[in-house]
Amino acid sequence: MKDMLKVREIHAKSVLNKSKLSDFTLNCYVGCSHRCLYCYARYMKKFKERPEDWGEFVDVKINAPEVLKKDIKRIKLPKEVYMSTVCDGWQPLEEKYKLSRACLRILLEAGFNMSILTKSSLIRRDFDLLEAHNKQVSLGMTITTLNTELKRLLEPGASEPQERIDTLKEARQKGIEIYVFLGPLMPEFTDTQSNLEEIFSALKSLELDRIYIDRLNPRWGVLESLKKGLEGVGGERVRLLVDSYTNDGNYRNYSHKLRYNATKFASQFGLADRVRFCF
Ligand code: SF4
Repeated sequence: MKDMLKVREIHAKSVLNKSKLSDFTLNCYVGCSHRCLYCYARYMKKFKERPEDWGEFVDVKINAPEVLKKDIKRIKLPKEVYMSTVCDGWQPLEEKYKLSRACLRILLEAGFNMSILTKSSLIRRDFDLLEAHNKQVSLGMTITTLNTELKRLLEPGASEPQERIDTLKEARQKGIEIYVFLGPLMPEFTDTQSNLEEIFSALKSLELDRIYIDRLNPRWGVLESLKKGLEGVGGERVRLLVDSYTNDGNYRNYSHKLRYNATKFASQFGLADRVRFCF
């Protein structure tokens, strides 16, 4: 975690939000110290009066469990809650605050179905809850690359890629449904044939339920963040990345190539029936 991380404890009025992704979403934090260069949740900054850049502050909803208990009183089941959308619920601060764990317990014991997506092996701490309610839970890990140098540039605060894979393997052994989210697979960096081949090869033994694949969402300053964070890597590759989003022909080409190559490697490793494209 960066030393410069500014943490503020806040009181939320409610924590469940209706969503198109699931029935509800739940975020115990606003902001994320994983600091992914491609993070589109940075749009949240416009609702927050914070002078810090995205990735340099986290607002902690310290009353989230109490508020959640009130929020769920009038909700009729079955319903699914997705954690999380504007933070990683298992980012390093969760080790201290345990808010995602407390909320997860409340929702599982109340009978909600849960979809969890994280890049943190801290979720292992909560395997006891997930295992006890394994019929209600689906656990996902985001993976963009297995290349540790590229990972350190793209998602510096998140767990190492191999740790994420090992965490999923352990979850599966405990009878928990698992999935991966491969995204963003972005031009010149994570959509390459070698990157896709390496990822699918690593996924083949995981007994995954689903594999979601998505492109880069360039809005809300994401391209600027990538340009700044990747400029030391090679100007030409960054220029081509940006070109894929500023030129319609290049964008179609990128989308088509990604779909083609992902299908090819998924088939090669016997995973084609698990793949769901998000575009
Ligand atoms: S883990 Fe998710 S929310 Fe956190 S910085 Fe990365 S993309 Fe954003």
